[in-house]
Amino acid sequence: MAPAKLKIAIQKSGRLNEDSVRLLKDCGIDLKNGVNKLKTEADNFPLEVYFLRDDDIPQYVEDAVADIGIVGENVLYEKNKQAEIVEKLGFGKCRLSVAVSKSVAYGGLQSLRGKRIATSYPGIVGRFLEENGIKVDLHEISGSVEIAPGIGLADAIVDLVSSGSTLFMNGLIEVETILKSEAALIRNSVLDADRQAILDKLLFRIRAVKKAKNNKYILLNAPNANLEKIISLLPGMKSPTVLPLAEPGWSSVHSVLSENEFWDIIEKLKAEGAQGILVVPIEKMVI
Ligand code: ATP
Ligand code: ZN
Repeated sequence: MAPAKLKIAIQKSGRLNEDSVRLLKDCGIDLKNGVNKLKTEADNFPLEVYFLRDDDIPQYVEDAVADIGIVGENVLYEKNKQAEIVEKLGFGKCRLSVAVSKSVAYGGLQSLRGKRIATSYPGIVGRFLEENGIKVDLHEISGSVEIAPGIGLADAIVDLVSSGSTLFMNGLIEVETILKSEAALIRNSVLDADRQAILDKLLFRIRAVKKAKNNKYILLNAPNANLEKIISLLPGMKSPTVLPLAEPGWSSVHSVLSENEFWDIIEKLKAEGAQGILVVPIEKMVI
């Protein structure tokens, strides 16, 4: 019998395609050339890749046509299929928001009662409004939702927003956020032992890649007189590496910093006399 392969569904083209392919590449998985194909496979990992419209991915995962998939949480929740999130992936970040024309005064959620609302997300929006006890006239449209108020089709819209520039260009302002979303790895709930083992291997790599992205490797020269203070500022994986420099009275200190605390700590290090600070990206990080 041929060895088992895990089948993953990713977006064929669109906002998630490039980051999904890059994530696999960063995990050391090389795909056979097949950009315009429906299906390809990896040369060096037991993985088969299907390129699909994002809207279809939850259904394929529910039906086990694909074992796993990469899709925005917004699509997963809209489709309401039997597929669970294994790992959020940190790209494709956006929010599903209510927007109204900037020329109307918005009076809170209650003011939407009885209004015409256009959206491509009738499932999520319908559930949200029902939970809040608000009845509206919901219109499902499949694209260009942002033009609906301008052409008199709707009083408000619910659409995906990232920078807000599309809303702005259409004279709309964002007034409520219904859902925050990012790309997620989803799975079919039943995988045989072989496929589960491949998924575990893939997840291990994905987590190492994600961790590496959030961390930087830092090298600096420290005057020995302030070495202790400088070391206390650096978290490091265990503790920083300290090596003597050729120049007496100085040491080289190496450590790992998370992106969030980065600027704050750099300033403090400089204040303690650290010099020649180098910050370099980390490719993989396994703890
Ligand atoms: P497909 O042809 O696969 O159906 P699509 O047109 O439905 O593609 P895209 O516009 O490529 O979808 O968006 C894919 C996903 O990217 C969205 O479902 C969402 O999770 C995420 N996303 C991130 N930022 C935005 C944004 N500003 N607008 C729309 N989607 C965004
Ligand atoms: Zn789509």
